[in-house]
Amino acid sequence: MIRKLNIRDLPSSLLNSKRVFLRADLNVPFEKNSSIPVISDDTRIKSALPTLQHLTAAGAKVILASHLGRPKGQVNDSLRLAPVADRLREYGVDVLTVPDCIGDKAAAVADSLVDGQVLLLENTRFHSGETDNHPEFVQALANVAKPDIYVNDAFGAAHRAHGSTAGIAEHAKIRVAGLLMEKELNFLEGAVNGRNVKRPMVAVIGGAKVSSKIAVVESLLHKTDRVLIGGGMMWTFLRAMGHNTADSLVEEDYVDVARDALRTAKELGKEILLPVDAVVAASFASDAAYEIKQINELTSGMGLDIGPRTIELFRNQVLDAGTVVWNGPMGVFEFEQFATGTFAVANALAEMTAKGGVSIVGGGDSVAAIQVSGLASKISHISTGGGASLELLEGKVLPGVACLDDQLEH
Ligand code: ADP
Ligand code: MG
Repeated sequence: MIRKLNIRDLPSSLLNSKRVFLRADLNVPFEKNSSIPVISDDTRIKSALPTLQHLTAAGAKVILASHLGRPKGQVNDSLRLAPVADRLREYGVDVLTVPDCIGDKAAAVADSLVDGQVLLLENTRFHSGETDNHPEFVQALANVAKPDIYVNDAFGAAHRAHGSTAGIAEHAKIRVAGLLMEKELNFLEGAVNGRNVKRPMVAVIGGAKVSSKIAVVESLLHKTDRVLIGGGMMWTFLRAMGHNTADSLVEEDYVDVARDALRTAKELGKEILLPVDAVVAASFASDAAYEIKQINELTSGMGLDIGPRTIELFRNQVLDAGTVVWNGPMGVFEFEQFATGTFAVANALAEMTAKGGVSIVGGGDSVAAIQVSGLASKISHISTGGGASLELLEGKVLPGVACLDDQLEH
């Protein structure tokens, strides 16, 4: 994969007084039971600040766009970006807003921007042309932005070819990554390409289903030295190895796929490590009765977490690794009594990082687990994009990245 340009590659003469269309991911969550919109976690806004500050400090006129939630092509007053603009102002960004991301009003305000000022366009998903990447919508957006430069910092949306991502890129003369995008690509793509990685490199993969993770397993099998598998998906693998899985989550259709992956590992001279014990519950419930079982003595119940011997095994593998990529919880961590394995892995990652290792966490639920564990600051890189990070780990090319330039034309 060719390295993409980022905003640091642009001399400030190319940014000063120039119109920059910046696509960021300002899709923040809101408090559920509040009559007025209250942002519950502004991580994404804070993550967008370095790029915004770089551009405004260089004197660019920034036309900033983002989606928020899923308004499905309709205007939805509860999904307006006004609270996001307020938060940006609290962080010192001089930002204007408009009630729509396209049209004469937005165009007039964009034209009135002075150097270093920002216009936050309204939620792009109020128009169905955004997710459809419809040429008419893209043209309308380009008529507002009239971009000299396109900057994509929305890593979380980079796996989709949308109007404000891959679409409008074609309307700018220069297309570069923002600093958050650059950081995500550095860590995730670097890991996938095995570029400058500290070895041994270990992947820890869990989560609910083999079907949603098999591409990640296969991709990482080629790049890493060892793959540790936990979570619900371990059961399909254990079934493929001939174990009794009782009432645990098994995807019957994927037993052969799991068997193939085990064979591929062998052919590559790599190891897939599976749990040797599990926390087995009587039912799928937060307060279900449970006991620790060795994998080869399972006859009933459902495995909802990895067991203590497996924790020890996985922990040692993580501590001995130079680089660890983690995706997918080890158990049903939403239920406290089945969260032990997931938090143990989180702890091991924090420890290996403290010893100089590189730890990378991607995937919606894994990142949520790391946040809950309070260990987030001890991890080398926590991806801001769930789906996008998975697709990158699968080795896919993301449309929001493919549309960026790899060199400056003169
Ligand atoms: P991520 O979002 O990090 O990619 P996934 O979405 O693949 O992770 O998987 C997360 C889900 O997997 C969690 O909701 C968790 O409860 C579930 N899960 C983990 N282990 C098990 C298990 N043993 N049985 C059933 N579900 C599980
Ligand atoms: Mg998930």
